[in-house]
Amino acid sequence: KSNQITLTFSSIAENVSIARLLIASIGGQLDLSLNDIEELKVAVSEAVSNAIIHGYKSNPNNIVYLNLEITKDSLVIVVRDEGCGISDVEQAMQPAFSTDPERMGLGFVFMQSFMDELQVDSKLEVGTTVTMKK
Ligand code: ATP
Ligand code: MG
Repeated sequence: KSNQITLTFSSIAENVSIARLLIASIGGQLDLSLNDIEELKVAVSEAVSNAIIHGYKSNPNNIVYLNLEITKDSLVIVVRDEGCGISDVEQAMQPAFSTDPERMGLGFVFMQSFMDELQVDSKLEVGTTVTMKK
């Protein structure tokens, strides 16, 4: 039995918690521990926050795309924006790298450590797609 969920939402910070709620409730469909679900929520929050803050530069008039593919023993989460894109993905994924001096540069570190697979595809002025598997 498999399940597919797509959620599109405005690029506003309030919607990060909507994405977290969705992850929390699908966590129950999978055989995941509470700790795993907490980690999934963090990974998704980080990807969605990045789309809003970096991809769309906190402009609320844009759309973030969240797609979940759930099977009995796997979960694929895709977070996509049509924002500014990342000029150097390898550099962006380095621990503590941030283009914003006020930030920690740890979002990708959390995604990497909490998920089994992380793939980042990005093109300048086209957007960024983050694919995470558990
Ligand atoms: P933190 O997540 O700790 O608040 P951060 O967002 O800067 O800080 P990461 O989430 O690791 O750190 O992202 C690293 C950098 O990659 C960002 O500073 C930003 O320059 C770039 N980046 C990440 N996601 C996107 C995105 N969706 N669109 C454009 N740039 C992005
Ligand atoms: Mg971040």
